[in-house]
Amino acid sequence: KTFEELGLHADLLKGIYDMGFTKPSKIQERALPLLLKNPPQNMIGQSQSGTGKTAAFVLTMLSRINFSKNQPQALCLAPSRELARQIMSVVVAMGKFTPVQTEYAIKDHLPRDVTKITAHIVVGTPGTMFNLVRKRILDVSEVSVFVLDEADNMLDQDGLGEQTLKVKNALPKGKPIQIILFSATFPDHVRSFASKFAPNANKIEL
Ligand code: AMP
Repeated sequence: KTFEELGLHADLLKGIYDMGFTKPSKIQERALPLLLKNPPQNMIGQSQSGTGKTAAFVLTMLSRINFSKNQPQALCLAPSRELARQIMSVVVAMGKFTPVQTEYAIKDHLPRDVTKITAHIVVGTPGTMFNLVRKRILDVSEVSVFVLDEADNMLDQDGLGEQTLKVKNALPKGKPIQIILFSATFPDHVRSFASKFAPNANKIEL
């Protein structure tokens, strides 16, 4: 399969080729058809880093944004600032030929006087993301994709799982939101968290 055959928008294909990718990795080839399906479906993916999972969920976020609305529409949580930065670099590179606007929800990043985030995609860590939601700086009413990366590392750190659930519980209830969870490992506590977090999900392993 090629990236074209996955039905990605021409502007995203440009970004992909600009990054030097020529064909989808195995996980991209398996995950993207499920991730891009309409109506959107949840996904629980088992995958190590190095497999190309980031591009899979980043392309999904970018594919689902209405760029004419300057409101957050996709949220992505990571267990560390470093990982949030890595994910953001993929968003920016893949979205290079789109009008995507991005913002970080990581500690000490936003200027104190910010009252509203107008970016389409917000990537960050759970505590800071929840604070922004609580203060209504981050309006989640138009969010349609919610990604949790490295769920196992998230749940290993005090309070991060809890903050993640708080963000999720703040999302609008009346509309469908695509939930995507990736984890390298699935010990029992991660498995039970994942199945509650992303109900009725397609499951893929690599
Ligand atoms: P990840 O598993 O998301 O951390 O990605 C691992 C590495 O694979 C990154 O350096 C990506 O730039 C690279 N990568 C992701 N998808 C592809 C692809 N389709 N072709 C070549 N390299 C890729």
